[in-house]
Amino acid sequence: MSYWTEGDAIADNAAPDGPIETRWERRQFGAKLVNPANKRKLTIIVVGTGLAGGSAAATLAEAGYKVRSYCYQDSPRRAHSIAAQGGINAAKNYRNDGDSVYRLFYDTVKGGDFRARESNVYRLAQVSVNIIDQCVAQGVPFAREYGGLLDNRSFGGTQVSRTFYARGQTGQQLLLGAYQALERQIAAGNVEMHARHEMLELIVVDGRARGIVVRDLVTGEITTDFADAVVLASGGYGNVFFLSTNAKGCNVTASWRAHRQGALFANPCYTQIHPTCIPESGTHQSKLTLMSESLRNDGRVWVPVEAGDHRAPADIPEAERDYYLERIYPSFGNLVPRDIASRAAKNVCDEGRGVGPGGLGVYLDFADAIDRLGRPAVEAKYGNLFEMYERITGEDPYATPMRIYPAVHYTMGGLWVDYDLQSNIPGLFVVGEANFSDHGANRLGASALMQGLADGYFVLPNTINDYLASGPFPAVSESDEAVVAARAAVSGRIDKLLSIDGDRTVDSFHRELGHIMWEYCGMERTEEGLGKALSLIRSLREEFWTRVKVPGTGEQLNQNLERAGRVADFFELAELMCVDALHRAESCGGHFRGESQTPDGEALRHDEEFSYVAAWEFTGTGEPPVLHKEHLEFEYVHPTQRSYK
Ligand SMILES: Cc1cc2nc3c(=O)[nH]c(=O)nc-3n(C[C@H](O)[C@H](O)[C@H](O)COP(=O)(O)OP(=O)(O)OC[C@H]3O[C@@H](n4cnc5c(N)ncnc54)[C@H](O)[C@@H]3O)c2cc1C
Repeated sequence: MSYWTEGDAIADNAAPDGPIETRWERRQFGAKLVNPANKRKLTIIVVGTGLAGGSAAATLAEAGYKVRSYCYQDSPRRAHSIAAQGGINAAKNYRNDGDSVYRLFYDTVKGGDFRARESNVYRLAQVSVNIIDQCVAQGVPFAREYGGLLDNRSFGGTQVSRTFYARGQTGQQLLLGAYQALERQIAAGNVEMHARHEMLELIVVDGRARGIVVRDLVTGEITTDFADAVVLASGGYGNVFFLSTNAKGCNVTASWRAHRQGALFANPCYTQIHPTCIPESGTHQSKLTLMSESLRNDGRVWVPVEAGDHRAPADIPEAERDYYLERIYPSFGNLVPRDIASRAAKNVCDEGRGVGPGGLGVYLDFADAIDRLGRPAVEAKYGNLFEMYERITGEDPYATPMRIYPAVHYTMGGLWVDYDLQSNIPGLFVVGEANFSDHGANRLGASALMQGLADGYFVLPNTINDYLASGPFPAVSESDEAVVAARAAVSGRIDKLLSIDGDRTVDSFHRELGHIMWEYCGMERTEEGLGKALSLIRSLREEFWTRVKVPGTGEQLNQNLERAGRVADFFELAELMCVDALHRAESCGGHFRGESQTPDGEALRHDEEFSYVAAWEFTGTGEPPVLHKEHLEFEYVHPTQRSYK
């Protein structure tokens, strides 16, 4: 049986060609405008209040549109973006260390292992400088140098310092900025906020995205909402692995429901495994904790030279330590990109040189930094991260090295969008981690916040006008066939989940699914393993629909029901991820195929065959999806084998 079929090629028709430096300016000039009086007649639904959705909703409302904003948390400012620690990139060159828009563009295309669109990445680098100005104006308390200028630090995959930060709480501070902007618009009556509402279906009428079906998570009431455009800013799907650094609530449902309605899902197998997380401590655990990449600015990664060396770190002399990243990658050292650092950690652990319980850990050691800078300086930069580590592990990282291990962290794949951030369904726009757009096969650190805010504050508010200039669109009626069908689909699924009344918990299915994904679609994938994963996922999915137990009713707060719906979607997504990973018989970025490596174990791409975005069309649960290829051109940064040596 074939796991997929191939359909027509697709193209991004929204991006202008010509010199890359002026493409964004030309697109903005070429896009239609909507005059202020007409904006008041147009409504936009924004699903998600993280950095992407919060900034988009605030900016669109400020521009004059009527916005209705949704999130499943009890407050918009509890979106997962609040967890971001290390920082946000921008090509300001405050350090005068050779940075530029072009260098940020170059680093990002190369860091993404030549699987991202050049036009999008160049625009991201250009807009990055505006983001910092915007956030400073909002009062975001970025760290400052003694002289008062904003401070910078380095992140992986770069040799300049371009990361702006607010201690280890950058996401929180940025989100407070976006949240205040959003609250201002809520108070002004331009944004209607619906917290604790979950979007469970997209409504497509006459080929256009025109609304959503939502469930009130407190009362269970199911309602519809209609608008002239729908923006999804619903975040990433790393929790398909069960254990990840993502907030427990992160899920794929909004994107998956749109996918089932026809939106293409691009590069689902591109998952980021972050090298510096606190190792798993046992089977009871429900999530993993990130230790920010910024720590690799000063922390040195090492393992014992000899396999099976179980001495305490302090008892292992310098000569018997292997600072393997510094040894293998002398140019970038501890700051190699995440995909490379994660694989290197896996390799040394596979050699039996891992540390801590089960040998699944490596050291991240700050002794040199404390000697060189003094403890107060280290504390000022990373204090809250050290504190978090100590609270979780009971070990003091000022006195003994941290133990870290790779964990699922971010998903580069997502709904396919063009240069305007519009999906293939007219009127459905997708921003932030939910789209696939800018990071190729591997995201560089501190680039997700940059992308989310670029999309929300600057890109979408310009490009959406071009679409809305043809509106307002005809009113949608509750009795429209598409609306009735969408509502029925939501109620039918809820009834089905509640009626199974089986004997296994939702979490037990999710944990087992996550285990399959980690084992066969995690840090290394092989053809054989992916085939096995597909058959395991299918039989587990069937079991889920006959044995899951969802207590309670649909007319009340019921977190088991919420989770059951999300896990049901994770099952379908997991299959697509494995099919995508299977079809891409090359290694690139976060997707490492065991059969495709260089003699020294580095990822080996096959550009002639795979220089494309894989955009998948849904054809039915368990049915082979259709692959549409968007060819990628590299006019400026020519693909080479990535080397950080
Ligand atoms: C621990 C951690 C640290 C990180 N640190 C950094 C960092 O230092 N720098 C960096 O650049 N990146 C970092 N990242 C990545 C970055 O935080 C995320 O990629 C980014 O915040 C995602 O923002 P977003 O707005 O796209 O989505 P999110 O912040 O995930 O927001 C999603 C929103 O969608 C809503 N939503 C989702 N589904 C539905 C639905 N069905 N119905 C209604 N609402 C829905 C949610 O309620 C929420 O409001 C980190 C990630 C983690 C996990």
